[in-house]
Amino acid sequence: MKFIDEAEISIIAGHGGKGSVHFRRETMEPRGGPDGGDGGRGGSVYVIADPNLATLMDFRFKKKYQAEHGHDGRGKRQNGPDGEDIILRVPVGTIIRHAETKEVFLELITKSEEPILLCKGGRGGKGNTHFATSTHQTPRFSQPGEPGEEKVLSLELKLLADVGLVGFPNVGKSSLIAAVSAARPKIADYAFTTLVPNLGVVRLDADRTFVMADVPGLIEGAHEGTGLGIRFLKHLERTRVYLHLIDAASMRDPENDYQIVRKELGAFNPELLKHKEVIVFNKMDSAQDTELLDAFMAKLDKQKKTYFKISVATNTGLKDLLNHVAEMLFTNRHDFQ
Ligand code: GDP
Ligand code: MG
Repeated sequence: MKFIDEAEISIIAGHGGKGSVHFRRETMEPRGGPDGGDGGRGGSVYVIADPNLATLMDFRFKKKYQAEHGHDGRGKRQNGPDGEDIILRVPVGTIIRHAETKEVFLELITKSEEPILLCKGGRGGKGNTHFATSTHQTPRFSQPGEPGEEKVLSLELKLLADVGLVGFPNVGKSSLIAAVSAARPKIADYAFTTLVPNLGVVRLDADRTFVMADVPGLIEGAHEGTGLGIRFLKHLERTRVYLHLIDAASMRDPENDYQIVRKELGAFNPELLKHKEVIVFNKMDSAQDTELLDAFMAKLDKQKKTYFKISVATNTGLKDLLNHVAEMLFTNRHDFQ
């Protein structure tokens, strides 16, 4: 599943500090020569591709990045300190374009080994010390600092959902994503206007982050165009693992629900049935008449199929489920790629 996460930001490097106009003043030398120091360089803006980041979320909250200006020079040849640089951190895979022309400025395909310059800070101005000549010993001028570069950039990240959620409507797919994901990127440029897949970034720890997405509206007959499931099914094809959620509290037969959804997947693309699947019984907190449920679980036990019993509402079993999914995704990673 592929989604686009994007943000537009403006970045401004710092202005260079002014050079100083200053003359030595010492008791012994009332009319000393020029000693104005130089202005400091304005801070620059750099970018780094950081493998621990998964989305461009942060850039939707803060859109303007202004590096510090260089400080002005002072007397006694004191140069102004440089402005502090800014280093932006973006996820690996981010494409940076000039916002206006859409021309690609930088593609961060791999982890950056060092910061890459986006906007250069302005040069500091020279103090009047530099302008004394034999014929002109009291220069009363210095250079102003130069402006820092400015850019309006658009950031774009293509997100691949590693984990897809399938199941009847109302089984708790959206609730699960909301409960386990730290970040919910806005999904831009998605072709569907009425229904948007729900997407979340699950972060177990710094090294284990994955994207989970649900496929709304998968109902019986979806492959024939009933409901909107069909369009989303297309995107499931790329997902490495899917969780098949079953409502343990519904009065329906859970095995039948399971088969209906499997049939939909298979009818759309038989390959989908070969994908790694984890069966998840949700709403265990309110499972009442469990006869059918027990029978189905007994069957799964016999077939040695893994399943999880969870309750999103009471936050039960979620941790075990996520750890299992992470194990599927991150052990023998090459198996899935
Ligand atoms: P989706 O259609 O599959 O996305 O389902 P939702 O996440 O929208 O959930 C449907 C309804 O089930 C909502 O009213 C949820 O509050 C409720 N729900 C979700 N998880 C649980 C759970 O673990 N226990 C109970 N009792 N209700 C739940
Ligand atoms: Mg939903």
